[in-house]
Amino acid sequence: MDKYMKAIRQNICSICADSNDFGKCSLTDDEICALEVYLPQIVGIVHSIDSRNIQDYIDALRKEICSECHSQQENGYCYLREDVNCSLDRYFPLIVETIQRADQIA
Ligand code: SF4
Ligand code: SF4
Repeated sequence: MDKYMKAIRQNICSICADSNDFGKCSLTDDEICALEVYLPQIVGIVHSIDSRNIQDYIDALRKEICSECHSQQENGYCYLREDVNCSLDRYFPLIVETIQRADQIA
């Protein structure tokens, strides 16, 4: 997972609205980044799908991760997603691309 985390730090954290000017995460100890928590599952989703349609990846994200996430209610509503406050959801297309590029380098 190290190479993916390194690529995520370089490509996502560096531009994340929740990072400081140096690309360092500014979340407090009480806050959790879904991208960090679910990285193995995210990589699994990217590896299990071969499609040019990002919606296919988003559908898998909702089905496999959001459905298990404590922030999502039983009716499918997520207040963090609604407020554009989930970094995983906010940068998901770029996250998929970052993982695919990391695979090509390896
Ligand atoms: S919230 Fe997540 S994606 Fe954003 S800087 Fe922190 S660890 Fe990186
Ligand atoms: S969009 Fe909501 S339910 Fe999905 S991972 Fe982010 S916080 Fe969890």
